[in-house]
Amino acid sequence: MYWLGHLGITAGLAFTSQKVFARPVPEAEAKQSAWMPDFRIIFIGVLTPDLIDKPIAYLFFDTTRLFAHSLFFYLLILMIGSVLFKRARPGVLMFVAAALIHLIEDQMWKQSKVLFWPFTGIGFSPTEQQGVGERVSSLLSQNYLLVPEIVGGTILIALMWRITTQKSWSKFFNTGKVD
Ligand SMILES: [Zn+2]
Repeated sequence: MYWLGHLGITAGLAFTSQKVFARPVPEAEAKQSAWMPDFRIIFIGVLTPDLIDKPIAYLFFDTTRLFAHSLFFYLLILMIGSVLFKRARPGVLMFVAAALIHLIEDQMWKQSKVLFWPFTGIGFSPTEQQGVGERVSSLLSQNYLLVPEIVGGTILIALMWRITTQKSWSKFFNTGKVD
C-alpha cells in the first residue's frame, strides 16, 4: 500500500474507533470523548515503517521492507517507550498501534520472514524491485493497488473538510484531536 492509503485508511479507523468508544463525560467536558486519538501521532506512526526501511533498503539491500516491518521492532519500541515515557504511555501505544496497522495494510503475513525478523534469520532476502515508472503504471492498472489509495485519499479529504468547517486547524496542530 502507498501513503495515501496508509494515512487515510488508518485515520479512518482511528476516527471510527473514537466514535465507537466515545462516551459522554458528565459536567464540564459534556461532549468530550473518553477515547480521543492524537492524529499527529497516528500519522507519524503509520508512516514510520516506510520512513525507516525504504531509505536504508534502497541504499544497502535489494529489497524494500526490513526490520521496521517486523513485529519484534514494535515490541521493542513498546517496551522501551513505556519505560522512558511513563506519562506518555497512551501516546506510545497509539504510535505502536498505527505502525502495526501499517503492517496489516502491507499484508506482511505474506512476507513472514520479515514479519518475524530476527527469529527467521538476521539477513533480508532480495525482492523484485520496480522503478518509479513501473510503480506508477502498476498502481494505475491494478485495482488492488489503486482502490486503497482512492479510499485513503477520500477519507483524508473528508477529515480535512471536517477540520476546516469546524475552524479547528489550530486545535488539530496543537492537540492532534478531531471532533
Ligand atoms: Zn510499508
